[in-house]
Amino acid sequence: MNTQPNYIGGLDIGGTKVTAIVADGDRPLARITAPTCKTGEIRALPEQTLAMLRTVCEQAGLDLSALDRVGVSSAGPFACIDGKLGLATPNICGARSRSDDLPNDWDIIPLEAVLREQFPHVVIENDCVAALSAERSFGAVQDEPDCVYVTWSTGVGFGLCVDGHILHGKNGNAGHAGHMLLSDHSDAVCGCGNRGDLEGLISGRNIGKRLQRPAPEIFLAARNGDPAAHAEALEAARWFGRGLYNVAVTLDTSVFVLGGSVWQHHGDWLAPIVQREIESRLPALTQDVSVISAALGSLVADIGALSLVMPPEWVAPWRNTRPWESLKV
Ligand SMILES: [Zn+2]
Repeated sequence: MNTQPNYIGGLDIGGTKVTAIVADGDRPLARITAPTCKTGEIRALPEQTLAMLRTVCEQAGLDLSALDRVGVSSAGPFACIDGKLGLATPNICGARSRSDDLPNDWDIIPLEAVLREQFPHVVIENDCVAALSAERSFGAVQDEPDCVYVTWSTGVGFGLCVDGHILHGKNGNAGHAGHMLLSDHSDAVCGCGNRGDLEGLISGRNIGKRLQRPAPEIFLAARNGDPAAHAEALEAARWFGRGLYNVAVTLDTSVFVLGGSVWQHHGDWLAPIVQREIESRLPALTQDVSVISAALGSLVADIGALSLVMPPEWVAPWRNTRPWESLKV
């Protein structure tokens, strides 16, 4: 196993932007963000992440070789090539996309293979699993053994923890429960191609498409009492609650910790509807399940990436000093 590191790196890879961050045992030292590279040969995006890590190291007065651990929070899903994780992400990889608007024909981006050429210790998780790790380390569910992180945003994703173990699955794709099938609703088309899965029914992107009105506008109108918008939001909250019910009875979950833009802005009035939907069946399994909001907000991906490779000895001091607060803009 690796000896105690002095510095760790983190990457947050999304469909629109990439963030690189470097930290020591006391605090984050530097962070930069850039648009996600989607052109060039198939190593272009991993090479971009390496260049960004080199830059944050320079800003922190370090050589890239000072990093021996890098944690990655990335949009999924993942696929394996030669035993290493690659990105098979529909909004980055042209060959995986269902639309023609990506300027590449990438199928599986060899992210782990390229990072491992530079770093001995690399941990890659999907963004909801990294967020779960962040919330368990520094947020709303510290040390909670049976908890699930859920984002309700442009998409819907889960990170699962059972008996204190974060679940990964064979290709690191555990938690893609946004694609659980719930309905025959033929209008609710998810980006994955399913009709009537949870994400197809309630994600901001899909609600907006279906009702031909931006989702933030619909939820705001609903909050302000517009009857049609209110009915749509209530139905979405009930589907969301039903999705959480399915996960709770499968995993015997204690706590759902919820984030994402829909929840951040509307969780206050949607929470009772969601809670009621979870508790409406099988009380022996659902009566003590709680629903709370995530604590780390927009920093969850950066902190999540670092938390994946953070030495356990750093966690208590970071909890005390909350050094990520300095990253807020
Ligand atoms: Zn889907």
